[in-house]
Amino acid sequence: MKKCLVIGGGFAGLSASVFLSEQNVEVTLLEASPKLGGRAYSILDNNGKNPYDNGQHILMGCYYDTLNFLSKINALDRLDIQDSLNVTFVKRGGKEYKLKSPKHFYPFNLLYGIINYKAVSMKSRLKMIDFFIDLIFCDEDDLGGLTVLQWLKEKKQSDEAIEALWKIITVGALNTTVEEASAKIFAGILKQIFLNGSKAAAIVVPNTGLSELYAQKSAEYILSRGGSINPSERVLKFVTDQNKIREVSTDKNHYKDFDFVISAVPVYSLEKIFNNSNISTNDFNLPSLKYSPILNIHLWLKQNPFSKKFYGLVGSQFHWLFNHEGHISITTSSAEKIINEPNEKILKDLYSDLEIYFPIFETGFVTDYQIVKERRATFIPDTNSEGAREKVVNQIWNFILAGDWTNTGLPSTIESAVISGRLAADRVIAF
Ligand SMILES: Cc1cc2nc3c(=O)[nH]c(=O)nc-3n(C[C@H](O)[C@H](O)[C@H](O)COP(=O)(O)OP(=O)(O)OC[C@H]3O[C@@H](n4cnc5c(N)ncnc54)[C@H](O)[C@@H]3O)c2cc1C
Repeated sequence: MKKCLVIGGGFAGLSASVFLSEQNVEVTLLEASPKLGGRAYSILDNNGKNPYDNGQHILMGCYYDTLNFLSKINALDRLDIQDSLNVTFVKRGGKEYKLKSPKHFYPFNLLYGIINYKAVSMKSRLKMIDFFIDLIFCDEDDLGGLTVLQWLKEKKQSDEAIEALWKIITVGALNTTVEEASAKIFAGILKQIFLNGSKAAAIVVPNTGLSELYAQKSAEYILSRGGSINPSERVLKFVTDQNKIREVSTDKNHYKDFDFVISAVPVYSLEKIFNNSNISTNDFNLPSLKYSPILNIHLWLKQNPFSKKFYGLVGSQFHWLFNHEGHISITTSSAEKIINEPNEKILKDLYSDLEIYFPIFETGFVTDYQIVKERRATFIPDTNSEGAREKVVNQIWNFILAGDWTNTGLPSTIESAVISGRLAADRVIAF
């Protein structure tokens, strides 16, 4: 039986471990933190009963690898999956606009959805349709070096369309601004979302806390197939010899009895391990990535006036509101401007915007709150990141890299992490 050490218990490490366990590889998962889940986990509320997430995570119908992984660990019933795209956007004053495509007649249903998206003028909607038609014939490689804004301007997208659609998609999917995001990566995800059948554009929201959705279920799967999970155990160092890792040292153990090592930690954590080891980071050419924060504010309400599951806020610094019935959570992606503000100021600005966007909301409804600041939530998929991720080399034959930052072609997402884990497991199995 092959033996594999997996370092890191986020989506990437758990997906690698689940796929390996399925193929009878003996897994030992080493996770520095006391909990599994990495950057996607849940915390229990003040009553110790109901979970809330470190940050709202949404999946999409085109997250094929993630849905397959969740199916394997028997967690699909913990997701609410739309039949097809259906999002409610709200403008100041409370007027709602639907971006909704019917279930059938793909791809015309998407065009129908855009034509009826009345948050922008008909002229802008027609330009959006031109954009989607051009996307069918677009080769992403031709967009290398271009930012999303440059591309949108080239495609004659109006300012109102950029504000009421493109900025919201860019910041939500890439966690960065249209000025910074790479057009190449953006085009890739637009194709996956909009040119892959009706279901691909459907929004998928967990109906339970993230830890309950996948971390606990993955752990059960791995343990039931003879693997072990070691939380609170940080990997510090590798000892290599003749292009092979011979030993992995943690703050608790020294491991020598393994065939392969999969690293599923962020690149900045891997650099630290390399710096303690007889490995030069130059040999690997690890990418130097920039990071962007996400801010999540959770509000518990004595009266919940919201009727939809979620809303996109057009033109607010608070981008999305998710309604969990017991509480609501408000997400700001690319939150550089507000993450360092004092909590009192953040709350004051939020309450003010909520009252403007939702006249049905009153600040007096709020009974409790939590603010979660994730400073290195995702790497920024800017025009430099593409090449940097492609250039990573690896001379050590029993060492495999995984993690959302590896060269999956996707931005820093759950799907990228899960794909990287599955690919790493495939390599071990194929060897
Ligand atoms: C607030 C927020 C909202 C997000 N929203 C979305 C969303 O809506 N949709 C989406 O697709 N993605 C979203 N993302 C991105 C998504 O969470 C990440 O892309 C994904 O979780 C990354 O998984 P990973 O396994 O690659 O890395 P991580 O989750 O970072 O896992 C790495 C693990 O390695 C461990 N580790 C590090 N160093 C060591 C060491 N030396 N020894 C042992 N263990 C170590 C860490 O503790 C961690 O558990 C969001 C992220 C955040 C923070």
